[in-house]
Amino acid sequence: MAANEKPAGTLRYEEKPVYTTSNGCPVNDPESSQRVGQNGPLLLQDFHLIDLLAHFDRERIPERVVHAKGAGAYGEFEVTHDISDLTSLDMLNDVGKKTKCVARFSTVGGEKGSPDSARDPRGFSVKFYTEEGNWDWVFNNTPIFFLRDPSKFPIFIHTQKRNPQTNLKDATMFWDYLSTHQESAHQVMHLFSDRGTPYSYRHMNGYSGHTYKLTKPDGTFNYVQIHCKTDLGSKTFTNAEAGQMAAENPDSHTQDLFNTIEDGDYPSWTCYLQVLSPEQAESFRWNIFDLTKVWPQKEVPLRPFGKFILNRNPENYFAEIEQVAFSPSHMVPGVEPSADPVLQSRLFSYPDTHRHRLGVNYQQIPVNQPLRAFNPYQRDGIMAVNGNYGANPNYPSTYRNMTYKPVKPSQEHEKWAGAAVAQQLPVTEEDFVQPAMLWEVLGKQEGQQENFVGNVAGHLSAAKPAVRQRTYEMFTKINKDLGKRIEEATEPISPHPQSQAAGNAQARL
Ligand code: NDP
Repeated sequence: MAANEKPAGTLRYEEKPVYTTSNGCPVNDPESSQRVGQNGPLLLQDFHLIDLLAHFDRERIPERVVHAKGAGAYGEFEVTHDISDLTSLDMLNDVGKKTKCVARFSTVGGEKGSPDSARDPRGFSVKFYTEEGNWDWVFNNTPIFFLRDPSKFPIFIHTQKRNPQTNLKDATMFWDYLSTHQESAHQVMHLFSDRGTPYSYRHMNGYSGHTYKLTKPDGTFNYVQIHCKTDLGSKTFTNAEAGQMAAENPDSHTQDLFNTIEDGDYPSWTCYLQVLSPEQAESFRWNIFDLTKVWPQKEVPLRPFGKFILNRNPENYFAEIEQVAFSPSHMVPGVEPSADPVLQSRLFSYPDTHRHRLGVNYQQIPVNQPLRAFNPYQRDGIMAVNGNYGANPNYPSTYRNMTYKPVKPSQEHEKWAGAAVAQQLPVTEEDFVQPAMLWEVLGKQEGQQENFVGNVAGHLSAAKPAVRQRTYEMFTKINKDLGKRIEEATEPISPHPQSQAAGNAQARL
């Protein structure tokens, strides 16, 4: 079945299929089991019962370590502006051209049953089924992230999860990490603004965050960042509203996305590029491979190129959304990764996760299938369900003609490719400039600075005193007034005995 078609298991309601075992044997009564006499023990020969129980016992696959809780839908991308001066990418090469897609939105740190409205960045992934392969956008709803050194990713994520001793979320752990890794200050500013609690998945923007290369057949390239802006306008909950929604309806964003699409009220996003030539990038103030920095829009304006709409719900959540497998390494001719180290590590880590969760043949799962793929040198493995390339030779054989389409890689960025390898970028004053810019942006929106201070204080008050102090110092580096205001708002708050904060106090850190 090609992607975006109705799954084979879907029947019309009026149809009356014959109920069978998993091997197709008709069964009269799904709720009875074979036993010896009226009250005798069960029989091992009852394949229906054994198969049903055994399958039930294996229903769960590992949840994603990050982005476990999410929702998704299908849709379509349309090119709105000519960008042939930038790329030969198939999906983007004609104004008006449409490409089918599937999107999944998610929180980052929470488990599969956690509330949709929790304060957290959001994942914003889209898979485009282009004529030359699947192109995945594995974006967030923030233009930056907490780190720029990939080895910090698992370490950082641990601090957002549960304390290994108490099995509780832990504010001390959370702020201890952030206040000792202050390159995260910019993302902290985004997370604790009201954008950290979006009103719905439909009301948030998506950003590549990473720098990519858009390439042309002659090998020339430009560096780009992609922005997707919701056509509904960014809308957020306050901290109090998000907390209330978490209690009333932990699945609020999932429900909102499904119901609005079901009602024909389709969300859409307008897509823009920021573009820097290699020469411009060399003299740019900000390191374009530093995931903690944006490219200021006044200096690098947004250039529109397309729009996507989500207009169809999945038939089956598990098959189509739990099993959808995105990766930034799923690229197509016309786009390449930049040297951004966090992007480079994600190129490995995402497919590695899929091989673990879904198996080595995860690309054969219908929602992940490209429009056409022919790769008979990848054979066998668990769940090789697509015919396994039949009798095709499993090596470049003189008995099978194959077309190897030339795809010229882009030129190296020579000036940078030969530079010395840096282990880690130390935190400098530069790391507090863009957080300060965001503080000013918040100052232009009524009540947003006050909300920010309250959002931080409510969370930080649960951390231990030394961590709180270090965090005030971090905010003071962004803005003197900000550090003082957060301290004044945080110190008087004492947690409720059953609040998360009180739980944190049990952790022996
Ligand atoms: P501008 O001063 O030109 O514009 C501010 C941008 O901030 C807006 O375009 C909007 O981005 C975003 N924004 C508005 N309100 C909020 C909010 N409450 N929380 C988070 N972001 C908000 O932007 P600059 O490019 O000069 O950057 C200033 C600061 O804006 C940056 O330090 C960064 O933190 C933030 N920002 C920058 C982005 C970029 O890629 N340059 C993107 C998003 C935020 P949008 O229209 O995308 O919603």
